[in-house]
Amino acid sequence: MKTSFDVIVIGAGVMGSSIAAALVESGLDVALMEKGIAGGQGATRDTGGIVRGLELDPALRPLTRRGAHHGNTGIVHAMFEQALKRTGVAYIASSEVCGRYLDAVGSEGTQSVELHASVSALDNGRFTPFCRDECLLIERDGGMVDARVTVSNLCRYISEKATFLDHLAVDRCVELDGMVQVHASKLCLEATWVVDACGASSPVSRPVGAVHARTIPFTRLSCDQVPSMPIIAHHLNTYLLPLGRNLMQVGGQRRHRADRAEQLNLSLLDNEQDVVERVTRLGYDRLHTLPVVTQIAWDAYTEDGRPLIGRSTRESHIYLATGFCGIGFKMAPSVAELLAFELGGLMAGSQMEGEHRSIMEAFCPSRFTEVAFS
Ligand SMILES: Cc1cc2nc3c(=O)[nH]c(=O)nc-3n(C[C@H](O)[C@H](O)[C@H](O)COP(=O)(O)OP(=O)(O)OC[C@H]3O[C@@H](n4cnc5c(N)ncnc54)[C@H](O)[C@@H]3O)c2cc1C
Repeated sequence: MKTSFDVIVIGAGVMGSSIAAALVESGLDVALMEKGIAGGQGATRDTGGIVRGLELDPALRPLTRRGAHHGNTGIVHAMFEQALKRTGVAYIASSEVCGRYLDAVGSEGTQSVELHASVSALDNGRFTPFCRDECLLIERDGGMVDARVTVSNLCRYISEKATFLDHLAVDRCVELDGMVQVHASKLCLEATWVVDACGASSPVSRPVGAVHARTIPFTRLSCDQVPSMPIIAHHLNTYLLPLGRNLMQVGGQRRHRADRAEQLNLSLLDNEQDVVERVTRLGYDRLHTLPVVTQIAWDAYTEDGRPLIGRSTRESHIYLATGFCGIGFKMAPSVAELLAFELGGLMAGSQMEGEHRSIMEAFCPSRFTEVAFS
């Protein structure tokens, strides 16, 4: 069996499988390793798959921008676009928050965004009596992607063109003379670069305190009328995701945090009641809006809400791609493209260009270690 690669990506959630596919497409010799089944273990398993470009944090904007950065549309972008159910995405928020969204978009993306002074333009005005002080933004080219189908298509592409090893947990990584050894059960593989895309639990040591695990509860409710498109309800601090004719998913807010996913308290708390309260405030009546199931999922978080993308330390050959804070699904194609560009450049010995460097700076893992030392 082949044991040496240009890059080994650990973790086949949406991020690892997207990164691995983009690296394969850029011509690198890649292995993707997953401790369970692709997309079946971590945050990706439960993702809502809402894909939207509007972000309040301008630093995240290059990661949520649709289309590619370097003039190359790429296989990962193409697979996401193909799987996208283009329903549009609605944001119910105060005029101040809507203004901040529009500022973050800048002039380049405004064609696909509609701003309304009231929420009456959404679903024949059914939310209007319950959201009198709110405005509405509709992002027309947003929508939802079926995460399982997309991740499995990405992994099929990787196993056809490169190496995909599932049901194989990585135990540890050892850096040695510009190479990284990756130990997994009886195997020892090596690569020039390793990407840690393990989400909220990893065999690789990360900068202390940089990333933690947080629960993301959600409840599926049967109801008479689901919204026509995903709704980000800012004023209620939740989202509504239509799943079928009479089924929607709504985010709960009773959450736990821990250093790693395995240490999380996964009890339901009162998330179900909390979700019912929130949808009642949007006009759903309690008699016809019944919780079907409540689940506690999780993701990797950082204190500043920005992911860690970059070398784990200045000299390390281990890249981190984690800390996606509950919104990583939509970022996967752009993160994959950035890392393919960066690692392809490093393998070829070429310099990183300015635009690329400035995007990556906001996500550099050393921002946490530097704070800790100062
Ligand atoms: C309920 C919910 C709803 C969400 N909704 C949205 C949304 O609508 N839109 C959006 O953009 N984002 C959403 N997110 C966030 C998004 O799903 C995550 O940010 C994203 O899936 C993170 O992907 P990941 O690949 O980084 O991590 P993960 O999906 O956690 O993948 C990590 C992978 O690494 C593997 N792994 C870990 N340790 C090892 C090891 N030692 N060896 C080998 N493999 C290992 C795990 O098995 C896992 O498969 C949601 C998340 C949740 C939980």
